[in-house]
Amino acid sequence: MAFLVDMHMHTTRYSRCSRIDASKLIGRAVQAGLDAIVITEHHHQWSKEETEALVAESGHPGFLVMAAFEYTSSMGDILMYGVPDEAVKDFTPGWAPEKAAKLAQRYGAACVAAHPTRSGMSFDERIATLPLAALEVASVNLQPHEQRMARKLAENLKKPMVACSDAHDLPNVGAFATAFDDLILGIRDLQAALLGGRFQPARL
Ligand SMILES: [Zn+2]
Ligand SMILES: [Zn+2]
Repeated sequence: MAFLVDMHMHTTRYSRCSRIDASKLIGRAVQAGLDAIVITEHHHQWSKEETEALVAESGHPGFLVMAAFEYTSSMGDILMYGVPDEAVKDFTPGWAPEKAAKLAQRYGAACVAAHPTRSGMSFDERIATLPLAALEVASVNLQPHEQRMARKLAENLKKPMVACSDAHDLPNVGAFATAFDDLILGIRDLQAALLGGRFQPARL
């Protein structure tokens, strides 16, 4: 049985562009049939205490909330799973993507290219050389033709694909998700599953 994760979303707590009240996030995720979520604010990673407090206050004890962050490089955004909280501040926004990915690798983190074919926010040819665990090929921020192009790009690069909501509005949480082959109990499991390629996009 697949383990369904929406691994890309933002809340008003740390992302000014989001309209999602974090206190409503878990209720919506449960309603959407997700097994877990990952909060990926721009350049900020929720601490374990914060995610635990969110779960405790949600009325859904035991629901799995993980934290990662979205890095904005000079050429494309990269989702980083598994960087220690205290190291996130070392990732200065706007570096070349290869520099940010290299630092992430030092922590054994899994890097995923966010909306790689999004108009005005896409990567260039360097994406072929980046140490990416996967490409995001579907989200509410990718138009249908951009999703098709992202799938082609992933096929050409022989990279696994994920689908994520990239929700900035509550109803979009769970609109897209990724199905993992293994049970995920925390960010270390997710990181390992991503690096191991044991997943496929769901809800396309
Ligand atoms: Zn945003
Ligand atoms: Zn995002």
